[in-house]
Amino acid sequence: MGGLMDSRRQDADGALGRITGESLFERARRVTPGGVNSPVRAFSSVGGTPYFVDHAAGSRVWDTDGREYIDYVQSYGAVILGHGDPAVTEAVVRAASAGTSYGAPTEREVLLAEMICDAVRGCDMVRLTSSGTEAAMSAIRLARAYTGRSGVIKFAGCYHGHSDALLAAGGSGVATLGLSSSAGVTTGAVGDTLVVPYNQLPSLSEDVACVIVEPVAANMGLVLPQPGFIEGLREACDEAGALLIADEVITGFRMCRGSYTELIGVQPDLWCFGKVIGGGLPIGAFGGRRQIMEMIAPSGDVYQAGTLSGNPVATAAGLAALSRLDQESYAKLSRTTRALADGLRAAARDAGIAVQVPACSSLLGIAFSHQPICDFDGARRAGEGNLYARFFHAMLHRGIALAPSPFEVAFPSLAHSHDDIEMTVTAARDVFTELADSPP
Ligand SMILES: *Cc1c(COP(=O)(O)O)cnc(C)c1O
Repeated sequence: MGGLMDSRRQDADGALGRITGESLFERARRVTPGGVNSPVRAFSSVGGTPYFVDHAAGSRVWDTDGREYIDYVQSYGAVILGHGDPAVTEAVVRAASAGTSYGAPTEREVLLAEMICDAVRGCDMVRLTSSGTEAAMSAIRLARAYTGRSGVIKFAGCYHGHSDALLAAGGSGVATLGLSSSAGVTTGAVGDTLVVPYNQLPSLSEDVACVIVEPVAANMGLVLPQPGFIEGLREACDEAGALLIADEVITGFRMCRGSYTELIGVQPDLWCFGKVIGGGLPIGAFGGRRQIMEMIAPSGDVYQAGTLSGNPVATAAGLAALSRLDQESYAKLSRTTRALADGLRAAARDAGIAVQVPACSSLLGIAFSHQPICDFDGARRAGEGNLYARFFHAMLHRGIALAPSPFEVAFPSLAHSHDDIEMTVTAARDVFTELADSPP
């Protein structure tokens, strides 16, 4: 693989002159809005020019200028084994060589659905989609059909993809750009969406169809649920006759084999999955109790479809990735993440920099704040000023690629070694000292 890459690089370099990130970004901006296909990649909130990835392996990515980084972006959580895992790659190659999409059902769709249902207690059926956005959008439609109600409650700073009704006060790229919502989303489209603060129990009126929540919020930096918050949502939904939707597109199969809500003893009515379950290929899924899920077409009258849904290559990658994840993997991910968090906290403390480093399983947040962050207001206050941007660029300069936004989290993978963590902490120690020596 490496040899192939190198020869292709040489051809490209020879024929076209060296392809730099600068030149690619310039070309990209001519043909793609902002030069990227998803906003956060453009570096808007940290400034500068994004690096263009040439290839990646394990914990590392190499950019088109030949620089190597220890990568904590990991496709924003879609890659949990590290880049180019051999088993996943082999499954992808084998699947692709047998055709990449058929428009007829395949065995792997059954296997992946069985694997998810086996791992998630209370989830009897799933429908596969091509993205987390579709999963969340479809789960909302289903909840409205099931309850015959229209209201949706979401939490400020939680991100559930970019469907209109869920774009009100979203985290992730919406937060990065400082948009409370999005142009082009009509008041009608968000008219039934009520946005409330994370970690506070809302009161639910009679017309609420569902409450959708990230059980650990990972799109406004990392914000942990306070004890009793998710449990309280379950009770409030039961009392009001509303459904609880756990958007586990990030947390599902990342914190344990299955659903994070199960770890805290809460059973939602519907789950959304994505990212990890596709092994780095485009996928999403939503699922729940049989009685609810059977309302989906063609067994019921809630329409939901997709040309590439249950894609044979994506399901092959997903099955290969999920097959590798056992208790030992999750224990290792937690150890790696804890070591990184402890190291970063100690380095910041020694330099006299106020930073919060929340960590949970294999999710880690970095927020320049004196206080722990418990909601979107806190996250936004921590994201003001330029400390994160300076930290980000100084780390990147030292070969550590973090997310280019204070509203995203770091995703240590199974490929991150003890040495990777040490190198990261050593770099952070330098950078925190630099930040302390030259205040803004
Ligand atoms: C990433 C994400 C989504 C959207 O998934 P896409 O595959 O990007 O459409 C939805 N919900 C959460 C919690 C996410 O992190």
